[in-house]
Amino acid sequence: MQTLLREARQCAVCTNTTTYTCVDPRARIDSRDLDGRPYELSIIALPYWVQQCGTCRFCAEDVRLAHPDARTIVKTTAYLAQLNDTGYPFLAREYLAAAHVCRMTERYAEAGWHALRAAWKCEDMLHPMAGFCRNQTVLSFELALQHGQAVGATPFEHAVIIGDVLRRNGDSAPALRYAQQADEHAVDNLQSVIATQLLHAIDGGVRTRIVRVGTTS
Ligand SMILES: [Zn+2]
Repeated sequence: MQTLLREARQCAVCTNTTTYTCVDPRARIDSRDLDGRPYELSIIALPYWVQQCGTCRFCAEDVRLAHPDARTIVKTTAYLAQLNDTGYPFLAREYLAAAHVCRMTERYAEAGWHALRAAWKCEDMLHPMAGFCRNQTVLSFELALQHGQAVGATPFEHAVIIGDVLRRNGDSAPALRYAQQADEHAVDNLQSVIATQLLHAIDGGVRTRIVRVGTTS
């Protein structure tokens, strides 16, 4: 199955049409890191989970979809400052700009995923702003949970993902709380093993990956 598609998309903010490289939503995910990263897929797909309109500079996973307030947000100083901040890798700037739009329109789970993808880009480059991006991720995910927005498919997944993002930032105490929540929400042996793996990773400070055989997206 192919992973990438070429597709003409009309920006929902300014109506400009551009041909983008897009990630095929049917692309197979064989395994995920504890923080939710589909590692093998992301090697190819990470540059293409965000699109920037070349006319109005709107950044989103799909520029065809925009909150009505996005038209105003993309013109604000805060948005443009984020997009132009050379303290981050270019791709991370686009993800953080997309996260900004989501956060300003109270779509906190989406904001968190954008910030997390910015963190993955920084991690791949060994860039020091990875930690800031992870902080933004956790703030957005916790706001998402407070607003009843799903971060993962289940409370177990919420806890594992947020716990592992905290672990990677060296925030052991809150990471441990989420790992314990994951253990409490585990509903089968595999989930118990994953929760234990996260607990051990927090103790040992090692990078871990889980394999969910047969998981697709
Ligand atoms: Zn546009």
